[in-house]
Amino acid sequence: MRKGLLVVVSAASGAGKSTLCRLLLQRRKNLKFSVSATTRLPRPGEKDGREYFFLSDAAFRAMRARGDLVEWARVHDHLYGTPKAFLSLMRARGKDVLLDLDVQGALAVKRRYPEAVLIFVRTPRFADLKKRLRSRLSETETQIRRRLKTARKELRLARRYDYQVINDRVPRALKQLDAILKTEAKLKETDHG
Ligand code: 5GP
Repeated sequence: MRKGLLVVVSAASGAGKSTLCRLLLQRRKNLKFSVSATTRLPRPGEKDGREYFFLSDAAFRAMRARGDLVEWARVHDHLYGTPKAFLSLMRARGKDVLLDLDVQGALAVKRRYPEAVLIFVRTPRFADLKKRLRSRLSETETQIRRRLKTARKELRLARRYDYQVINDRVPRALKQLDAILKTEAKLKETDHG
């Protein structure tokens, strides 16, 4: 059985990444979402075990100390990490895995699994990102400013990604993501005969 694809999607928050990931998961039944562990609090509508495993600081650190995380990073004052068990299990079953990670996490995954496919989702213009972040209303002005600063740094590191997808229209961006996965799956087949 072929080992599944490892697909990492990053974006500055507000670039529409969560929506795209959700739609991509609906469209590709063989693609499974890697639910990360985090120490941040759930936002309204988020469910433990679906968007994240919401952990206390101590529980997160214990997980990390046991070596149960593939990678971890501090993002906006909270800890985020990718559980190892789910990733290994899904890949062993031939499933493709989708990871929604920040840039540090994505590059760490690439170091550990060079076959990982890194996709960066961006807005057409930086101004759009500002607008989308402001319209979300779930963050304070300070939080927004901090996120924009991170976004600038991330855009510089995004050059190391395998693909860049511009999210100007959701259906078009979704099609592009789907095409990337198809191409990568084909490449994998040819590589392994
Ligand atoms: P949010 O708190 O808005 O859901 O996510 C903040 C950032 O953390 C996003 O850029 C998201 O991609 C990133 N993130 C989520 N889970 C992980 C993870 O397991 N590892 C790393 N490195 N970043 C993560």
